[in-house]
Amino acid sequence: MNTGIFTDYESNVRRYGLSFPTVFTKALGATVWDEAGKPFIDFLVGSGALNYGHNNPDIIAPAIEYLVGENILLSLDMYTVAKREFIEVFVDSILKPRGLSYKIQFPGPTGTNANEAALALARKYTGRSSVMAFTNAFHGMSLGSLAMSGSASTRELGGVARHDVIRVPYDGYPNKAFDSASYIDFVLGDPGSGIEKPAAIILETIQAEGGLNTASAAWLIEIQRICRKHDVLLIVDDIQAGSGRTGDFFSFEFAKLEPDIVCLSKSLSGSGSPFSIVLIRPEIDIWKPGEHSGTFRGNNLAFVTARAMCKMWSDGQFTAGVERTAAKLQRHLDHLVAKFPNCIEQKRGRGLMAGLKCRSQAVVGRVHDVAFENGLLIESSGPNRDVIKVLPPITITDDDLEHGIAILDHALKEQANAH
Ligand SMILES: *Cc1c(COP(=O)(O)O)cnc(C)c1O
Repeated sequence: MNTGIFTDYESNVRRYGLSFPTVFTKALGATVWDEAGKPFIDFLVGSGALNYGHNNPDIIAPAIEYLVGENILLSLDMYTVAKREFIEVFVDSILKPRGLSYKIQFPGPTGTNANEAALALARKYTGRSSVMAFTNAFHGMSLGSLAMSGSASTRELGGVARHDVIRVPYDGYPNKAFDSASYIDFVLGDPGSGIEKPAAIILETIQAEGGLNTASAAWLIEIQRICRKHDVLLIVDDIQAGSGRTGDFFSFEFAKLEPDIVCLSKSLSGSGSPFSIVLIRPEIDIWKPGEHSGTFRGNNLAFVTARAMCKMWSDGQFTAGVERTAAKLQRHLDHLVAKFPNCIEQKRGRGLMAGLKCRSQAVVGRVHDVAFENGLLIESSGPNRDVIKVLPPITITDDDLEHGIAILDHALKEQANAH
């Protein structure tokens, strides 16, 4: 495989290229092919940015039609037909059926752009400077998001001061016996706690990069109650867990949350095209025109594909299929946990956002390598990189799912036998 050009010219910062040392060229659904024609089942899906599979025909067809029609591609935040049609479908197919009412901000196209906008708005609205962020949180790579990161190495990136973030323990941190919600409630109410009232609490309902730590519905509801009690905004970073990943469109539906602000990105375009939005409870939308901006707020091709994706959620057959696939994946993973107790400690996650916490980073490293050799793309997460992240497309066929699981099973078996 000719990878010399990458070695010679691409920065040392590259990572996935090193862990999957081949050159990819084509993709359809859950399968990616390299230049030599070798197929790989994709359980990585652009770190959750390709939930609907590669080149999903229901999503790509309208984009092709749009591209050949001399339609608007970039529009800053001007009004366009494509944006109007996206908003209409997002409101009708996603917000209204869930009883949610939000204004939509279009920030720059990446996840961290959405989080930075959410933080700026929360700070402006409350007049307070700090935010509460959780242990093992990951919110992106720009300064405001980095400050909220739980990972020491990530937080230190950039080399400038990180302040105005109060670190609080996530659900189950440091162990199940500790009631982190009560702790947060207490310190917010106690004038002696030394902790100032924050503008917002920002959370992921499942910490993707943090190791698939999974918040319970009861904990999430309690955090929302605490936010309201202390007049603090609740921001849900649904960048990776949202857009269908858990089997529902929003990852917080199972707990019936109504966050003040929600950030979406990654799979929001449905196609892998960069796109993000910030959902804002109408009373909080105190932005002045042009106060927050960004060149790529009007990626119209993403409006077109996102609209096609959102429409799918009005189709009962589609949602039932996602639910079935999520249940199947969970059964497969339960089976692997029972079969390989000396490799796997526990299953984590919800729906199609799943992880296997392994006994060591070394086990995960070898499983990754053997899986890759045998045609499966998976990645690891967590502060100790000892969690296998299992993120198949939510639209994966039964055959592809079983094939991917069989490769994972084989890779785990090699490790189990090596012990
Ligand atoms: C990926 C991710 C981000 C950052 O998104 P970018 O597009 O990489 O800026 C933020 N929050 C969560 C939970 C993510 O998974």
